[in-house]
This record gives sequence, C-alpha cells and structure tokens, in this order.
Amino acid sequence: MQRTMIRETTGMVGQEVLVKGWVHVRRDMSKLAFIDMRDGSGIAQVVFVPAELDDNSKERMKELRPEFCISVRGVVNARGAKQVNPDMETGTIEILAKELVILNPSKTPPFELEDTAKINEELRLKYRYLDLRSKRMRNNLILRDKVTTFFRDFLHKEGFHEIETPILTKGTPEGSREYLVPSRLHAGMFYVLPQSPQQFKQLSMVGGLERYFQIARCFRDEDQRGDRQPEFTQLDLEMSFVTQEDVLELNERMFIELVKTVSPEKHITQTPFPRISYADAMTKYGNDKPDLRKDKNDPNELAFCWIVDFPMFEDDGEGGVQAAHHPFCMPNPDDIALLDTDPMKVRASSYDLVLNGYELSSGSIRIHQRELQNKIFQLLGLPDDLIQARFGHMLEAFEYGAPPHGGMAPGIDRVVMILANEPNIREVIPFPKTGDARDLLMGAPSEIEQKRLDEAHIKIK
Ligand code: ASP
Repeated sequence: MQRTMIRETTGMVGQEVLVKGWVHVRRDMSKLAFIDMRDGSGIAQVVFVPAELDDNSKERMKELRPEFCISVRGVVNARGAKQVNPDMETGTIEILAKELVILNPSKTPPFELEDTAKINEELRLKYRYLDLRSKRMRNNLILRDKVTTFFRDFLHKEGFHEIETPILTKGTPEGSREYLVPSRLHAGMFYVLPQSPQQFKQLSMVGGLERYFQIARCFRDEDQRGDRQPEFTQLDLEMSFVTQEDVLELNERMFIELVKTVSPEKHITQTPFPRISYADAMTKYGNDKPDLRKDKNDPNELAFCWIVDFPMFEDDGEGGVQAAHHPFCMPNPDDIALLDTDPMKVRASSYDLVLNGYELSSGSIRIHQRELQNKIFQLLGLPDDLIQARFGHMLEAFEYGAPPHGGMAPGIDRVVMILANEPNIREVIPFPKTGDARDLLMGAPSEIEQKRLDEAHIKIK
C-alpha cells in the first residue's frame, strides 16, 4: 500500500490509508488510545480501539510513547460536529487504526518538543535532531528555504548566474581573523577558509561573467561577541558595468519583493528605503544602524534604510589606519584628490542595508584599476613586498581589461531571523554552534590523533 502524507488525509474520508511518522502526543481514555501522529506534512489524530485491531497491533499499541516512529494502516473518518477541532489543520477527521507497526521505539526525549521556548539551549543543541522535530525549528527552516529559493529565482530572472568559489583558499583581509587549514602536501603551508568570496567574485567580473551570485558560507574566527557564528551564510552578489545607484535599486526591489512573497503579513515602514549618510546617522542616531521602526512593539513592521557615504579609512586603534569596509572599495570620485592630502576625509562608494537596527548587508563599488588599488594598499601602510605577496594576483588581474563592478552581500541568517521574529540567528540555522564556537551535537572542536597531526606537519604547543 502507498504511503499517504498526513495532511492529505483530510480529503480522503471513508478511504483506507497508510500513514508513517512519529507519536506526537498520547492520551488514554479507558480502553481507547488517542495518538496525535506527526509526519513532515502535519499532525492528525489516530484512534486505537482494541476491537478494531489485530492481536499483534493490540499489544504494540500499549507500548507507544512520544517520538516512537510508527506506521499505521487505518480508515479516515469524518469527526462529528462536536468533535471537530478548529485549531488543528486536520481537525475535521480522525484515523481509525486497523494495524500498527513500530518502526523504531524512542527513548524519552530529554525535553518536550511542543514548546521549546523555555528549554535550556545547550540541551536543544546537543539533541538538535530532536529539536528539529519541533514546530518552531521546522517552520524556521522552511521559511529559510523559501527565502533562499526566492533569492535564487529573483536573481536568475535578473540575469545572474550562480557560481561556486573555493572554500580552501588564501586570505582575503576584511578585518577578521581567518581559520587556518594546514596543507599535508606542502609542509608548513596553509590554506585559509574565506571570510567571504570577495576576491573571487571580483575575479569573476574580470572573467566576464557580469552578474554573479552565490549562497556563500563565510568563516570568521572571532571571539563570539553577541549574535555571531563562526560560519554564516551570505547572499553574495556582484555586477559589472554598474553604478552604486544600480546596485541599490536592484537590492531594494529584491527585498520588497521578498517580503511580499515569503512574509506577506509583514509591512515595510517606508519605500523607497530612506538613505542616510554615515555622517548624518552618527550625528542623529549615534550609530550607523538606526532602528527606524515607528512602533517597536509591532512584530510585523520592517524598517529598512540605506547608510551611504561611509569613510574609506578608519583609525585601527594602534596609530595606523585600516579600511572601514575592505580595501577593495572605490573611493568616492569627488574625494579622489583628498587621497593625497587628507585621506581620513575620503568617503568610499560603499553602503550598508539596515533593517530594524541590524546591519543586513555591506557592499560597495570596487576599484578596478591597478594603480588606484595599489595606492590604497600603500595608504593602508602595507609595504610593497607584502602587497605583492598578498594581492599581486588582484593587481595583475586588473591589468587585463577589468570592468567597473560592484556588489553587496546580505546576511541570510539575519534576514530569516528577522522575518521569523526570532531573537538570534541560531534559531534559523539547522546545526549552529554555541556562543563559544562549539558544536555540542558532533563534539567539535576535538582532539586529533598523533598520526594525522604528523601527516599535517603539526606539533601541538
Ligand atoms: N564581502 C563583503 C562582506 O562580507 C560584502 C561586499 O562588499 O560585497 O562584508
């Protein structure tokens, strides 16, 4: 017999069905047992009446406890008017069990799956595979799938191509510490995990691909301040022959349509999105990610804004300067002369998208000429040999007719977090790490046996 998904049973009154899933809740009333049975599509009530069951099923029924994985053959019956449950999607029917098979019993789960809001998070993370069975996690991950599917569809319609870039690579300094991967084949040498595909997406533009995007995993070895993860996901995109206006216009359109498509219950405070210069934001709000919601108690309000005209450089706290965003940003054309006279006053052609007080995305128009890029590296205090060693490939690529280009990279975890009204990004990541970067389910990081360390030419201090 073919399996029927539980949600489909509402349309099958009078028919015999075979359903498979988990025991969600068990209630007993004298000789009867009522099981709320759950599968990937929903929950329905299954009634076990001893007289309707074969002998074996009768025995098995007594054993059923929450989270047992079961298979039930039964008949779909319409509920009487009084028994209809309007709070349940399948509340108009119930399944009268004829045969029960226990596919796999379950230990008692270490926490209740019905409402996980008050459950200790470390416990949820250790048993994430159980936590994923909760409605909360399921809904969040389905929303995440809708968001990434929307982005893919939208960008393909706009002529973008989805392009993969390496995970094992060489550093791109964007202000964060990088994860190191020792090379076995080249003793004493290392790959690093990308903080973002920044250089590769720019090199794709030099490669003539014109419109690139990727749902890209990014890795940053930071002390976990606030709501950060060692690995997170960006919608990384880049376009050739565009101005800042083009990038902002495309992204604004994309986010407005995203909200309409995946979260129609939400409303955007103001369109077009307000644009605020970095200088004005600092004066008026004291920060560069103002929360412009009119009613902060409205869970459905989305206040987007653009912050533009960021400074090109900032104090690095050690007497030198660093790139405010990253060193590939194009200086504002009006400020080029200031590079020689007063570089700290130079504005970059860079922009952030802010939503409800969160920085959702950074981006910029990039430098595409060797001389200017080299000058920026010099202003950042890099000696020529280091520039060559770290960025020689970018400088060289720019000498082969590199087109003008620019882009940005919205953080997908944050977008989904806000749309799901969740308090942190761990709630929208299937297998996240703890605040101190541990994976409690797998037990990472972990020690490595000596033989493998030797192969990787590593000696532990
Ligand atoms: N790579 C940048 C970042 O991760 C985004 C960009 O400039 O496109 O912030």
